[in-house]
Parts: sequence; structure tokens; C-alpha cells
Amino acid sequence: MAGETIDDRPSQEALSKCVHCGFCLQECPTYLQLGLETDSPRGRIHMIEALTDDKISATPTLTQHLDLCLQCRACETACPSGVEFGSIMESARAMIVQSGEAPWSWKIRTRLLAALLPYPKRIAALFIGLRLYQRTGMQWLVRASRVLRLLPGGLAEAESMLPELPARRFEMPSGDGDAYDRTVALLTGCVMPHLYPRTHEATVRVLERNGIGVVAPPEQRCCGALSLHAGDRLTARDLARLNVDVFLASGVEAVIVNSAGCGATMKEYGELLAADPAYAEKAVRFSSMVRDVTEFLAELPIQPPERGVEQRVTYQDSCHLVHGQRVRSAPRTLLRSIPGLELVELEGADRCCGSAGIYSFAQREMSLRLLDEKMRDVASALDLRTGRWPDTGNAPVIATANPGCMMQLEAGLRRHRLPGRVVHVVELLDEAYGAAGG
Ligand code: SF4
Ligand code: SF4
Repeated sequence: MAGETIDDRPSQEALSKCVHCGFCLQECPTYLQLGLETDSPRGRIHMIEALTDDKISATPTLTQHLDLCLQCRACETACPSGVEFGSIMESARAMIVQSGEAPWSWKIRTRLLAALLPYPKRIAALFIGLRLYQRTGMQWLVRASRVLRLLPGGLAEAESMLPELPARRFEMPSGDGDAYDRTVALLTGCVMPHLYPRTHEATVRVLERNGIGVVAPPEQRCCGALSLHAGDRLTARDLARLNVDVFLASGVEAVIVNSAGCGATMKEYGELLAADPAYAEKAVRFSSMVRDVTEFLAELPIQPPERGVEQRVTYQDSCHLVHGQRVRSAPRTLLRSIPGLELVELEGADRCCGSAGIYSFAQREMSLRLLDEKMRDVASALDLRTGRWPDTGNAPVIATANPGCMMQLEAGLRRHRLPGRVVHVVELLDEAYGAAGG
């Protein structure tokens, strides 16, 4: 809302919950990599407290320590005092952005996100351009010429993250909504219809197979998670208000989300809009309707899949599902319900893969360190280096629950020249129900 004035600094009450015990340190990926207190949850809370009390200012060094935080919220799961670190970090970044003291890189990215995410036509135009880039041979030329290595900002590595884009975007099938006793709405999201239409298609098929009708209100917008994590709470609030209105008006029993980062944010719209008298109550009501697709399906319970999926699968917890939404068992329950599927637990499955929204672009070096470590664990869980797995047929599978993790893990397979494929949990279920391609 233009001209909105809400004090977004973290509250003393939230900060004072930290008793500095350090139980969170061994769960923090950046602390484990760097061994520095300033890159740990406890150290970051110290710095945010001092910043909030105006004892220090947002120097480039300080903002770098805050920016290195993945906002994975593993520290929240580990914390015995109930410190809500995700909310504290979002507020701290918003405070810095609103003060005008943010570094130029933060200013650029918040402006870019604000100019893109609320506008589906701009996002569609961007993906048309990227598809052309890939299909006209320009991508091959750019990579072969190594021209991106001459430009600053790790552009070459960022470009290498781009998966091969599907030829078409997701379009909601025009089914018979009246054929179902129960109806849910699907969050289609900002980039997911362009990057992973197959995941949305599988989600709709699996829900319908279980007697749940699905609608996708066309007026819905991006959930606002990327803006929120970057410190732009104004854009995030505008998007949240719009989605609250659209989904409440749709009259469905639940809002289904297959992107863990979006689901975590939408479950917290109540907090985001708490200071807005026109939306505070509606936002809480809306948030109570939000369900991750794995959570919703595991609660049904689902129809047993009759066709097996003879594959070896490992599961990477998406941080915003396991730490943000505390959904740990539902995806595993669904995977174990598939006949023939061998689920191999991944060492450190709930440790971040380094994706974290735009982190893989903004903090490229740390993102790659975490990805490389993750791929070592994946290779060992799935026996990828033994040559047991040809790159065809029943190649091993990494299942996860978030498009950012899917992109990052796919890039990891390419980077380490490993066989296998990355899918959303719901896609394996879809295959077990007999969908084409399974
Ligand atoms: S955030 Fe929690 S676990 Fe970490 S130091 Fe503070 S109280 Fe301890
Ligand atoms: S959110 Fe993740 S990266 Fe950030 S301090 Fe907590 S555990 Fe560390």
C-alpha cells in the first residue's frame, strides 16, 4: 500500500527470547562452513539487537553477515527457547532496507523483484525471452564463447543454474468442478508455471484422483516470499492482501501449495498483516487454510497407488517445509506408500542445499559450497558413483518439495556429472497412479 508506515524493526520481546545457549550453532549451515560466531544464529541475533538499539550501523561487513544467512530456519527447529529466527531476520532486513542504509546490491534486488513479481505478464515475457535464448542456440554460443566470465557478479555460474525450460507453461485444465464434493485452490505461483508445469499438472491429477476438485483463481499473484526475504515487506504485504482477497472469495476449503517457500510465507500472512486493521483477521483466517500438498494428501488418507515405481529414491527436506512449516513425516509417508519404491534416507536431509530463493545468485560461493556437500551425500545415499545407474530407465531419484530446491539439485547433478533426476514428491505419486512418463 503506497505510503504505508509500519515499524518493521524486530521487537525486543522476540530478540530477548535468545538466551545465547548456542544449541543452534551446530545446525547452522553457514556456521558449520565458516566457524565464525558472526555467521551463526546467535551472533546474528547479537548484531541485530545492537542494530535495533542504534549501537551499531548497517556497515557493509554487518550486512554481509546478515546476507549470508540462508533464512533456512534450521536454528528455529534447534532452539529450545522458541526464538523465531526467520521472522527476526526478515524484520531486520526490512529495517535496513527502510532506513535507506542498505547496500546497493540489496537496493537493486528489491527494486527488481518489486518490478517483476507482482506482474504475471512481465514474468511471462521474461520466460519467453529465456526460452528463445535456449532454443535459438544463443545459450550454446554464450557458453562456448565464455563471454559471461568476463562480466562481474558471477553471471556465468548464475546462468549455469538455469534448467532446460519446458516448451509450455502450466495452464489449469478445464475440468468439471461440480464432479467433486470437496474443492481446493492451487497456488500457481510466480515462476513455477514456467519452470515446472509438470509439478502443477501432477498435483491436480493426484488431488482429483483422490476425489478433490481443484481450482486456480486466475487473479492470484506471487506469494511475496522472495520480496519478504529480501527485506521488502511493503511489496510482500501488497501481494498478501491481494491473495487473501482472491482465495477467500473462491470459497474453497483449503489453499494447496506445492512450493514449500511459498507455503511457509502464506501460513504467516497473519503475522505479516497483523498491523493492518482491514486485513488482520482475514489474513489469520486465510493462513489457517494453507496446506502443503504433501501435508494435505497424507491427512486424507490417499487411495493406495496400484502401479509400482521401481526406483531408488532419496528425499531432501525443503527447509521451508521441515523448519518453516514443521512438516517432516508427510512426504516420507507418501513416498513409502508407493509400491516398489525404495526410500533411502539422506545424511543431513534437513540441511539446506544452498538454494534459498535468490541466495544461489546473491551468495554464489556459499551456495555452491553447500550444494557440493549435498551432492556428496546424495551420491553416497544413492550409490551414484558405482556405475550401477545408467542415465536411462530407472535412474535414481532425488525427491523434494520446493521448486528452488529442484533447480539447485538439478544444477548439482549437472555440475557433478551424476546420473539421476530430481522430482517433487507429488510427481512420484502421480507416476504411481499411472500418469504418462512414469
Ligand atoms: S537462538 Fe535459541 S538455540 Fe540459538 S543461542 Fe539463542 S536461545 Fe540458544
Ligand atoms: S536461518 Fe539458517 S543460515 Fe540463517 S542463522 Fe538460522 S540456521 Fe543459520
